[in-house]
This record gives sequence, C-alpha cells and structure tokens, in this order.
Amino acid sequence: PPSGRDRLRVAIQKSGRLAEPARALLASCGLSWRESRDRLFCYGESLPIDLLLVRDDDIPGLIADGVCDLGIVGRNVLSEQDLANRVDGTGPRFRELQPLGFGGCRLALAVPETWSWRDASQLAGKRIATSYPQLLSKWLADAGIDAQVVLLSGSVEIAPRLGQADAICDLVSSGSTLAANQLKPVQTLLESEAVLAGPAADFDDARAELMELLLRRLDGALRIRRSKLLMFQAPRELLPTLLPLLPDAEAPTVMQIDGAERLALQALCHGALTWQRLEELKRAGACGLMVLPVEGLLA
Ligand code: ATP
Ligand code: MG
Repeated sequence: PPSGRDRLRVAIQKSGRLAEPARALLASCGLSWRESRDRLFCYGESLPIDLLLVRDDDIPGLIADGVCDLGIVGRNVLSEQDLANRVDGTGPRFRELQPLGFGGCRLALAVPETWSWRDASQLAGKRIATSYPQLLSKWLADAGIDAQVVLLSGSVEIAPRLGQADAICDLVSSGSTLAANQLKPVQTLLESEAVLAGPAADFDDARAELMELLLRRLDGALRIRRSKLLMFQAPRELLPTLLPLLPDAEAPTVMQIDGAERLALQALCHGALTWQRLEELKRAGACGLMVLPVEGLLA
C-alpha cells in the first residue's frame, strides 16, 4: 500500500551490519513499534513512524518510488544508486539528510600485495572487480584512467585469485578481509557510514513535521552518544592550565570541597575522552578523574 500522508515510513536493513544499530538509534529517539508476525513491517506505537525491514540495496529505490519516506542505508549504496539515476537521466531522486555515526567503512581500490604501488596510472588496461560499477567508473573517468570494470555481486575479494580480475574496488573497514586475500588497499574512493536518506523533494503534508521531529531527536541522540560527563578534582591555582585542555567542554561546574584546598569540577565534553587525554589532565594536576556516560540531554 502507498505510504500514508500522516504517517512516516522508514526503511531499515532487515538483517546485516546496519540492522541492529539502526533500530537502536531510532529507539533512542523514543520510537517504539508493535511487531507484526512477518516482521517486515513494524507499526509505530509511540509516534506515527513505521518501519519497513528490507535488503539494504532496495532502500534507495523504495524512497525514490515513494514506497518509503525515509531510509537508513550506507552512503556507499546511496551514492552508487544516485550515480546510476543521474547517468540514465532519472535522477536525482533522493538525498542524504544526516550522517548517523555508525557503519563506517570506505570504498577502496585494492591490488595484490605483490604489486609495488606508485599511483593509479598503473591500473590502465587492467580489469577491476567491483559491486560499485558507477562509483568506480566515475572515479576512473575523473582520473583519466582507461580500465575495465568487472561487475560482481559478491565475493569480490577473491576475484584476483580466481583470475577474474587484476584488482578490486570494495568496501574496507579493518582491512583484514583484504589481507586474508593477499590484497592491499591503495586508494580510497568514498568514505562511508550509515546515513538517513530521504526523497529529493520536500514533503508537503504532515510528514514534513514528523520528519522535522525525527531529525531533531536524531540530532539530540547523536550528540548524547558523543558526549560524556567528566568529573575530577584539582587545586584552584591549576585551573588556568587545566581548562584549556578541555576545548570541547561546556563551561564546567566548579564546586568547593568542604575543608580542602582542592576544587571538584564537572564538565560536559562533546569530543572523545581518550586515555591519552585523561593522562594529560592528570599530568597537569587533575586527580580523581571519572568519565560518565550521558543518558539524556535537552538543550
Ligand atoms: P543485505 O542482505 O541487506 O543486502 P548486505 O550483505 O548487502 O545485506 P551488509 O554486509 O550487512 O550488507 O552491509 C551493509 C552496509 O554496512 C554496507 O553497505 C556498508 O555501508 C556497511 N559496512 C560497514 N563496514 C563494512 C564492511 N567491512 N564490509 C561491508 N560493508 C560494511
Ligand atoms: Mg545488500
């Protein structure tokens, strides 16, 4: 059935790398669903926002056809489809609304470890296997390299060993799959992560407000994920050296400790609080450092 004008339908991956994180992120925005038996459609309970569980490759097309209003999909899939639509003259039909901070990976060219790599001109005349023919062809054209694109729908990384190709263009996160196949990454074509995607045109009905609400809550949920509450103590005279070490913190709360020379501080930090940063603060005179997750944030 076509999407209702007063409900928002969001497509997410049914199973795979993005399935659980996508659902968890939407749940952290206060969405809940009544599960249906087939689990392909989840009816929104707390808000009129329903889920459709599908293959990730289908998400751009579902948005373009208006079957779904929004989708959570890798930028790699979205860009590939977008290029295909532009090449065949049917696009643009959707756009990236918001990067979501998970599902990070990159689309990279990889060559056999035995190649001594200088630059991309070495790919001239070679066969490159990929599931991303549009992104690869565009990159090759922009770089002025004449190579043959070999389209494979899966198991791209074994193509060189099978003699199907000389090099590959595939998604890489840790690089361990490449290494296991005696390949090395030599060039990044696209930095990817999961994104919220929507149609190219704005909604002109109740869905516009629902989308605004969802985007606002997503913004809050993503901000919370990056935020931590840092607590520590320090002698008052060290504050001028300590505070510049917290450029990503909001103005800290400073508390007097009864009967002690030290102060207790708490600061909401929006960047990563790595061990290295904590050690730096300790060297600068902070003690009793403690990092706490933030459960909720309403600015
Ligand atoms: P589906 O059955 O839905 O088509 P799939 O096999 O195409 O699933 P997954 O392997 O679950 O998809 O990957 C989904 C997305 O996860 C990718 O499109 C990409 O954006 C992201 N991703 C993150 N890291 C990696 C990686 N190392 N390899 C592949 N995809 C990755
Ligand atoms: Mg897929």
